Amino acid sequence: MIPRSRLKAIQQKARKVLAEHGFLNSLPVRPKQLATKLGIKLMPFDPPQVDISGCLMIAGNSFGIGYSTAIKNDGFENFTVAHELGHYFIDDHPSALLAEGSHYSRSGFISKDRFEREADTFAAELLMPWTLIAPVIKSAIPGFQTIKQMANSCESSLVASAIRYCEVTDECIAVVVSHNGTVEFMTASQSFKQLPGIDWLRRRDAVPAEVPTCRLGSNEDWVQSCAIALEGSLLNQWFPGASHQEVEEDVVGLGSYRRTLTVLVTEPAPEEDEDESERSDDYIDRWQEGRFRPRR
Ligand SMILES: [Zn+2]
Repeated sequence: MIPRSRLKAIQQKARKVLAEHGFLNSLPVRPKQLATKLGIKLMPFDPPQVDISGCLMIAGNSFGIGYSTAIKNDGFENFTVAHELGHYFIDDHPSALLAEGSHYSRSGFISKDRFEREADTFAAELLMPWTLIAPVIKSAIPGFQTIKQMANSCESSLVASAIRYCEVTDECIAVVVSHNGTVEFMTASQSFKQLPGIDWLRRRDAVPAEVPTCRLGSNEDWVQSCAIALEGSLLNQWFPGASHQEVEEDVVGLGSYRRTLTVLVTEPAPEEDEDESERSDDYIDRWQEGRFRPRR
């Protein structure tokens, strides 16, 4: 687990890079342009293994970034280049990763490796800076529509946009990436994490047999055709310990990536009722302790 303070410092670094190189005015941020500006040579390549997304290389004082062309998607390439720029910019990465001249990456939030996770964090902040994505998020309908809008405006991948969306939204949302009925990972917004009875889905868990994602995600042609289905299910079908409440379930085929992206949107847990007198005491306490937050 990477400490939160470390992740914050990495996000700050990405924002500093954007500001220094004049990329904070409008979307999309173009990581290939940034690499070229830094004198880094860009090289598309056919990866030796299918899960390798890109690489960072050094020869003498010259850097090079390779990006896989296995997944034919501009958003995926941009995220890959941004990830490699993370290795280039994050303080201890070059010395740790480039001792033998090159580092091959597995980006896209699938790796547990500390360096890969840190570079993914950097890439998400670089491609989707909060100040530029906030208007996009506020103007779109919660769910897959927002993610699609973010991916279009930022020229980022759908998966990276979905993860970033969960990080910043106030909506009650979870995202599950699966492959043929098996979970690869799950992420969720703060509000979703607070729902009672949510049993976190982990890598290699089965997608519940009765939800639309299971049926659609096991149809390879459907996934390859980048189809989209706006369906519905119940929260306790996904998480048996959770309440029997309706969930909007948007299911998306990710084409040549061969995965299925599922976005679950539901109502947040109701705030607990408090006695009026307690509330006013609590308000003063919270204010005095400096942890005051206005109620929504
Ligand atoms: Zn990497």
